[in-house]
Amino acid sequence: MKSVDAHVADILDVVVPLPPRSLPLGSAHGCVLAADLRAGSALPGFDNSAMDGYAVHIADVADAGPERPVTLAVTGDIPAEAGTPSPVARGSAARIMTGAPLPPGADTVVQLEWTDGRMDRVTVTRAPGPGQNIRRAGEDVAVGDLVLPAGRLLGAAQIGLLAALNVATPVVHPRPRVGVLSTGSELVEVGETLGPGQIVDSNSHAVAAAAREAGAQIRRLGGVPDSPDAFATVLAGVLADVDVVITTGGVSVGAFDVVKQVLAGSGKVRFESLAMRPGKPQGFGVIDGVPIFTLPGNPVSALVSFELFVRPALLRMRGLACVHRPTLVATTAQELRSSRGRRSYLRVRLAAAAAGTGRPPVAHLAGGQGSHQLSALAVADALLIVPGDGVDRPAGTELTALRLGGDMPPFDAGTPSHE
Ligand code: AMP
Ligand code: MG
Repeated sequence: MKSVDAHVADILDVVVPLPPRSLPLGSAHGCVLAADLRAGSALPGFDNSAMDGYAVHIADVADAGPERPVTLAVTGDIPAEAGTPSPVARGSAARIMTGAPLPPGADTVVQLEWTDGRMDRVTVTRAPGPGQNIRRAGEDVAVGDLVLPAGRLLGAAQIGLLAALNVATPVVHPRPRVGVLSTGSELVEVGETLGPGQIVDSNSHAVAAAAREAGAQIRRLGGVPDSPDAFATVLAGVLADVDVVITTGGVSVGAFDVVKQVLAGSGKVRFESLAMRPGKPQGFGVIDGVPIFTLPGNPVSALVSFELFVRPALLRMRGLACVHRPTLVATTAQELRSSRGRRSYLRVRLAAAAAGTGRPPVAHLAGGQGSHQLSALAVADALLIVPGDGVDRPAGTELTALRLGGDMPPFDAGTPSHE
């Protein structure tokens, strides 16, 4: 059986960041910058006031104090608006608002609170320092500064900075478009009435949600019956419109394992047994330039496989350097059996260790560990990794875990949904 790590390495050998595109800011949110961004303009773009107050010559007010008030004629009124203000002469002041351009001649701003606030002539009772309350052009960003390096994920602050620099369409790696389909003649779309032997297609919803959380744009195709023709037709129909295909079901050794039947002979997708539990049967390949992940059908197997194999690939396609979940160390709450030859990913809840002990969190099984038992995964905080070395772990053993969740989406604003 192939190791999980070898399978991840094979996938990441093949998958590359999507070709860069210029996208409007709303669509670029959640994308990764594809090239270094240098400032084409300065921030601030011009000297402006940091306060509501009066723009003056420092020489006129330098000696002002409560006992030595200085009175100046107010010769201008400068709001924050388009235009160039008139100069301020010696012995006079211009009322100025926050963000308004500093008038020529003025070299300091007296804040309103240090004056009597009058409009005809103003009395200053405290002396500002030279240059005080002035935001100088370029003091935040100078022209040519490297403001955001390639590889930077664009969140709210980065989007704001791009807008401030008047960059309307940054060059980013677009989000991967992911086609999700499940196979199984027993499947019924959620909301429909179930007949005997039928189950709801939960996988295509779960995998679509997981891919969306990983920053992808989803095209959910739903369930396809276990008919080679039907599967081949749906697959052929979606390949041209997506960057990745994810299927579930039909990859093990059953009589109607349609995904394997259709794709095994193509030479494009390799079907392998992975040394993991759940999720042993896996397939991965590239068809017409589109990576395809054929995940097993059991709902927990499908999602655990997504975590281990698909999520890193999607993050790589988005141009992210760090594609793996953060790991943590947890202490087992009970004895755990090792499955010889297969690494287990147990669904666990994490409880903080007793305060002050400095011990790692304690991992409790979140519920039934069968690969069909989705309810445990639905309340799990992490996947606890039990090595497949055949050595059982007593309660209190420290093991590595993959933390789940934490990246609730996105990212759907401004991007077309294909659902
Ligand atoms: P398979 O891998 O196709 O043999 O499916 C394994 C198990 O997972 C079977 O019990 C299926 O009924 C179940 N299963 C397969 N696909 C789905 C799906 N889309 N949603 C929920 N359960 C599924
Ligand atoms: Mg099936």
